[in-house]
Amino acid sequence: MLQRAIVEVNDVVKHFVVGGRGFGRRPETLKALDEVTFSIAPGETLGLVGESGCGKTTLGRIILRLIEPTAGRVYFDGIDLFGLKPRDLRMLRRRMQIIFQDPFSSLNPRFTVEATVTEGMRIFGLARGRELRDRAAAMIERVGLPPDALDRYPHEFSGGQRQRVGIARALSVQPDFVVCDEPVSALDVSVQAQVINLLIDLRVEMGLSYLFISHDLSVVKHICDRVAVMYLGRIVEIGGVSALFANARHPYTRALISAVPVPEPGGRAKRIILDGDVPSPIDPPPGCAFHPRCPDAKPECAKADPPTKCPDDQTMYRCIL
Ligand code: SF4
Repeated sequence: MLQRAIVEVNDVVKHFVVGGRGFGRRPETLKALDEVTFSIAPGETLGLVGESGCGKTTLGRIILRLIEPTAGRVYFDGIDLFGLKPRDLRMLRRRMQIIFQDPFSSLNPRFTVEATVTEGMRIFGLARGRELRDRAAAMIERVGLPPDALDRYPHEFSGGQRQRVGIARALSVQPDFVVCDEPVSALDVSVQAQVINLLIDLRVEMGLSYLFISHDLSVVKHICDRVAVMYLGRIVEIGGVSALFANARHPYTRALISAVPVPEPGGRAKRIILDGDVPSPIDPPPGCAFHPRCPDAKPECAKADPPTKCPDDQTMYRCIL
């Protein structure tokens, strides 16, 4: 029997109205997400990659119901997230957590590490009194911080250590699913691997599922089971990590992969340089939105939406090729 998805995203659309203040300025619609559909299985890590501004973070926040979509549905463990009453949503929030990109601004500078890590447990009534501190101490130790870290403040730690506090805070309430929003991109390269390996170990130990948002494909290759590639608010390709890296079908995915450094000398395939910047999501190009930058574009690419192709159960891409 097939396992039920822990997260199911169905045709999610998100528009923001921007501008419009000041004399003569008319509001415009920014199309952040357009018909986004995918699911995440229990215990799976799905990578979400794409350039800055492609809608990755907006999607992560919609999945946690931190912002509302314009259209579409999100199901968490089969429950319609946007059909929940506030009380039921509060109960479900324990099971869905987030690790933020910036370990400097995501921690309250006035909270000790103990206050930070116990806050969620207190809110959800998971422990009281002495047990709260004991659980926080165990969590801190598990993420690789010394026991005396509990009584210290965020400014006393390095970036990598602060991110470990952020991980301890997210996992202290025993979630099932975590959105990791660029969790290592603000860290020194030397500590990125340590934090990634910690996330991998914790996923196995705690039976977690991750949505791993990143613009770094080499990190995604290391931690993810499947990868979804976003361009201008749309998923243009999704598939298993090995298949995608060995045989990417969409030209945009191929360009991203060509930029991934390869450890062996001469091991990288020819780098594909994309012309120009990502177009504005306020006025996206017609047809295939990638056509102004696509090295394989044909005249018909500017006219109609490219078809969705599914060469197998696990893989989907949008392209005429
Ligand atoms: Fe390139 Fe055309 Fe495919 Fe779009 S549909 S990715 S422009 S080949």
